[in-house]
Amino acid sequence: MPIKILSRELANQIAAGEVVERPSSVVKELVENSLDAGATKMEIDIHRGGIERIRIYDNGVGISKDELPLALARHATNKIFSLEDLQSILSMGFRGEALASISSVSRLKLTSRTLEQKEAWQAYTEGREMHVAIKPASHPVGTTIEVLNLFYNTPARRKFLRTEKTEWQHIDEVVRRLALSRFDVAIDLSHNGKLLRQYGVAQSELQKERRLLRLCGASFLQHALTLSLESTGLSVKGWIADPHSPKINDIQYFYINRRIVRDRVVNHAVRQAYETISTGSNTPSYVLYLDMDPRQVDVNVHPAKQEVRFHQTRLVHDFIYQAITTALNHSTSSFFAPPAD
Ligand code: ADP
Ligand code: MG
Repeated sequence: MPIKILSRELANQIAAGEVVERPSSVVKELVENSLDAGATKMEIDIHRGGIERIRIYDNGVGISKDELPLALARHATNKIFSLEDLQSILSMGFRGEALASISSVSRLKLTSRTLEQKEAWQAYTEGREMHVAIKPASHPVGTTIEVLNLFYNTPARRKFLRTEKTEWQHIDEVVRRLALSRFDVAIDLSHNGKLLRQYGVAQSELQKERRLLRLCGASFLQHALTLSLESTGLSVKGWIADPHSPKINDIQYFYINRRIVRDRVVNHAVRQAYETISTGSNTPSYVLYLDMDPRQVDVNVHPAKQEVRFHQTRLVHDFIYQAITTALNHSTSSFFAPPAD
């Protein structure tokens, strides 16, 4: 066969395979965009497990009329301009791929208004040639993205979807992770027309405690030890379950610069610290927020950005180990260390 350049549509669909695995991955990408746009309020409206419709409204800065087609183009982003920018990235996105990928496997409507514009505009695109049509619309400052009929043109992908209920649970979990990392953002989450989760902005200690209670349950809250350590440019805060507590919900959330990650170095440090105190074989439950110089951690390891590489692995490992052993040794079940704002 001769060598040929892939059509734009096919290239996007192939790329979509990496970031858009199921409805919850769409939700993850869209809420991250809303965060990057500075939103303090999000309304997430899911229909039939997100397979039929995902709609997210945010009150962020919006996208101007001229930039609507660009937002949907591949490798188009307003978050980095150079490799140096990438090395010190603090925004959630930077690859400029999510919207292009999502729109290549769905029917997508993007409605937005910026502060400078008197009126809102809506872009509509659907699979095939990815032609973008733009028309006037009505919308407050901010953005609403509507993703309809996910995978309608990629039947092989569609087949891998589970039941509506399972897909909904994945979405619920993605939103829970978000709610745990951003106490400063109000989030409403509905499924099939019912408002099922409502996380208000949590400013006071009491409000934060309430949100944590809702997200992690009373047993975790009761038995969680507060943790807080800062040194050598690293800061970690959060909660870890008292090893002497009865069995509580399995909760493992680790954030680096507000991004949820899964990392072997971190897991190892947590487990090792826990084992110095605990005799049982329970996996520790924790919610931890690590903040560090973004230049010391590479987030561009995987398209979904949930894996990282530390430049100084040992330093990070030992720091977390120390933070946890200190907290466990001073097990004053005192509350409440808010996450870094
Ligand atoms: P990335 O997030 O990596 O930049 P995306 O494909 O997710 O790439 O988004 C492309 C661009 O569209 C973003 O860089 C941003 O400029 C714009 N955009 C997407 N969603 C929103 C939103 N909710 N509010 C404002 N701008 C947005
Ligand atoms: Mg993005």
